[in-house]
Amino acid sequence: MAGGIVERVARGEMFFGIASTEPSGGSDVAGIKTRAERDGDSYRVYGEKILISGVREALETLDYGGWLLLARTGGEGHRGLSAFAFTGKWGGRLADGLEYSILDTIGRHGISTGILRLDGVEVPGSRLVGGEGRGFYVAMEGFPLARILVAAANIGAAKWALERAVEWSRERRLFGGRPIASFQGVSFSIAEAFAELEAARLLVYRAAWTADRYVRGEASREELNLYSASAKLKAVDTAFSIFQATMKIIGGISFTKEVDVHRGLLGTLSYLVGAEGAQNIMKYIIARDLIGREYVKL
Ligand SMILES: Cc1cc2nc3c(=O)[nH]c(=O)nc-3n(C[C@H](O)[C@H](O)[C@H](O)COP(=O)(O)OP(=O)(O)OC[C@H]3O[C@@H](n4cnc5c(N)ncnc54)[C@H](O)[C@@H]3O)c2cc1C
Repeated sequence: MAGGIVERVARGEMFFGIASTEPSGGSDVAGIKTRAERDGDSYRVYGEKILISGVREALETLDYGGWLLLARTGGEGHRGLSAFAFTGKWGGRLADGLEYSILDTIGRHGISTGILRLDGVEVPGSRLVGGEGRGFYVAMEGFPLARILVAAANIGAAKWALERAVEWSRERRLFGGRPIASFQGVSFSIAEAFAELEAARLLVYRAAWTADRYVRGEASREELNLYSASAKLKAVDTAFSIFQATMKIIGGISFTKEVDVHRGLLGTLSYLVGAEGAQNIMKYIIARDLIGREYVKL
C-alpha cells in the first residue's frame, strides 16, 4: 500500500483499520454518504464515520494511524464509491479538518471504538486504492478475510470460557460436598458446549482453507463468501452461547467483576450486534451465494 503504510503497520508503529460505517447505518455499504471531492491532485473528504475501531490507538497512542476509508466520488450506489488509504495521523501530526471522539463502549475494551468527523480533510490522489469507483469492490475483497480472523478469535475466546466452566464444575461443591460436575444439568451443558465449539472450529478451518485456495485461484469468490460468512455467523453465535452457559455454571458471582467471564461475554456480544458485519447480513450473503443472486437481493 502507498507511502510506507504496510511497513509501519508491520513494525507496530501504525494502526490501520477500516472506516466504512456511518451514523445512517453500517449494513448498507452501497449507501455511504461521505463524499470525496477532487481538488487538483488531491481529494477533500466530508462526512462522518461511526463505530470505528482503533480511533484512540491510531490518533492518540501511536504517531501513525489511519483507515481504509470508503467515500463517494461518483453517483448513487456501490459504483460511486472509492477507497482511500487515509492517514488521520502521520509523524505525530493530526490531519487538518479531522475531529474525533471515543465512544464509551460496554465491553471490548482491548481496543477503542470511536467517531471520525471529516470536514474537508485533504487526501492525496496517490492514496486512492484500486481506482475511482472501485471502493466497494476493494472493501468486499477484505471483508470475507477479516471475518475469518474474527471467527477464529471468537473460537479462542469460547475455548477459554469452556475451560473456566470445566474448572468451576470440578471445584464448586454443593449438596453434601458433591462437585457440581456430578449433576447432569451441569455436565451435559459442558458436553454440548464442547460439541458446538468443535463444530464451529472446523467451520472456521474450512473457511481459512477456502481463503487459501481463493488466493491461489483455486476457489471462487462465492465459495469464499459462503464459508467466511458461515464461519462468522456460527463462531459468534456459538461463542456467545458458551459464555452464557459458563456464566450460568459459575452462578451469581459471575455477574460481578470478581469473575472476569463477563468481559468475554461482552466482547463476543460486539460481534453479535454488528462488528465485522451484522449476523443477518451473514445470512443474506450465504443465501445469496447458495441460492443465486437473481433470487436473493437486498
Ligand atoms: C465494537 C464494534 C466495532 C466496530 N468496528 C468497526 C470498524 O472498525 N469499521 C467500520 O466501518 N465499522 C465498524 N463497526 C460497525 C459495524 O460494521 C456495524 O455495526 C455493522 O455493519 C452493522 O451496522 P449498524 O450497526 O449501523 O446496524 P444497521 O445496518 O443499522 O442494522 C441494524 C439491524 O438491522 C438488521 N438489518 C439491516 N439490514 C438488513 C437486511 N437487509 N435484512 C435483514 N436485517 C437487516 C441488522 O442485522 C441489524 O440487526 C463496529 C461495530 C462494533 C459494535
